Amino acid sequence: MKFFSFPQCSRVTSILNAVANENSSSRTLSCVDTFNACSSGVIAYTVIATTNIYYCSIFFNEVATSNLCSGTSVASRNVRGGTTLHELTHATSGTDDVTYGCSADQALSDSNKIRNADNFNCFTTQVYANTRC
Ligand SMILES: [Zn+2]
Repeated sequence: MKFFSFPQCSRVTSILNAVANENSSSRTLSCVDTFNACSSGVIAYTVIATTNIYYCSIFFNEVATSNLCSGTSVASRNVRGGTTLHELTHATSGTDDVTYGCSADQALSDSNKIRNADNFNCFTTQVYANTRC
């Protein structure tokens, strides 16, 4: 798996640590589409100005991380934890949406890999599948 290149490893660690250590008392994670941004295919979104995160109805059709061992695949990108991690990298590290899909993520340039939120979703779910199943 090559969701990142070797020189980027410390940056990957710092972005994932920012998610792991997220402890904001003011950030909202809402299941209400306050901004009517849940158009077709949108699973969740982060409002950059506030870093608040909003979940769309299709998010609730996604599956638990443990389903990576049976019932879903990394490429399906339908794990609730992966989606939440994607949004939290926007909120805590200002990542962007350059592209979506694990194959497309891996085809990005190094500079785009490290700023693309979906690379963190695919990378972390792949690590889970490889080490926890
Ligand atoms: Zn995103």
